[in-house]
Amino acid sequence: MQKVAVVTGGSSGIGLAIVKSLAASGIRAVSWDIRPPSEDVPFVECDVTSEDRVKFAFEETVKNFGEPTILVNNCGLQFMSPVDEFPLEKWNQLISIMLTGTFLCSKTLIPTMKKHNWGRIINISSIHGKVASPFKAAYVSAKHGVIGLAKVMAIELAEHNVTVNTICPGFVDTPLMRAQLTKQAELNKMTEDQVATEIMLKPAYIKKFTSTDQIADMTKFFISESANTITGEAFSLSGGWGMGQ
Ligand code: NAP
Repeated sequence: MQKVAVVTGGSSGIGLAIVKSLAASGIRAVSWDIRPPSEDVPFVECDVTSEDRVKFAFEETVKNFGEPTILVNNCGLQFMSPVDEFPLEKWNQLISIMLTGTFLCSKTLIPTMKKHNWGRIINISSIHGKVASPFKAAYVSAKHGVIGLAKVMAIELAEHNVTVNTICPGFVDTPLMRAQLTKQAELNKMTEDQVATEIMLKPAYIKKFTSTDQIADMTKFFISESANTITGEAFSLSGGWGMGQ
């Protein structure tokens, strides 16, 4: 039977690459996003911060595509400010989308995974789930939280053949990364090229942006049977960011 996957934030960037890559490998991958995809891929409108919207999206997905046993918690956004000026509204928004959204989507799909005695949850956290950078208080907190939540779910779901793993990318070339490039250039009074080489890729040993296809390939590996004993892991795709001083 064809497997069904939900990819949150699947209308853009990394999520869209994952949706297309899973579809090419024979999985029915559906984007759950607040906006329609820029390309023709299966889509259900969903704001992951609302339990009612998530439940509704789940029902629509089952009705139109089948019962999902794969969940990629991907959607996210960035906001940068020093902690003492960080607007509470922005803090709440980032935590709601990246941490509470991961919790709500997982909570909603887990019963179906248990029913099928098989499932895969893959979270797209960030290297900022393991290390910190200035001005990213809410992002770093949410992304660290996702890794903790994944470990709890990995323990609870092991007996149901459900694995839970987290991918921690460094910088990936997407609209979100481009927006950060512009913001960092403003904050640091630098050109965007200077920000790329002197700030973004500075902590990485391999001085290259990761591609969206590389994240999609790692996602497919965690879904594969080759990975059926890997759970609770947080795997970096970051050019070695955080390895040394
Ligand atoms: P992106 O291109 O901005 O895509 C994110 C998608 O999520 C957008 O379509 C966005 O819609 C959607 N979204 C926002 N709020 C949502 C909500 N409440 N419910 C459902 N969907 C929502 O971002 P990306 O660069 O591909 O990033 C994807 C993930 O990778 C994020 O979790 C990000 O933190 C992580 N990541 C990215 C990088 C990088 O360098 N790009 C590095 C490390 C980790 P709108 O555009 O309308 O807001």
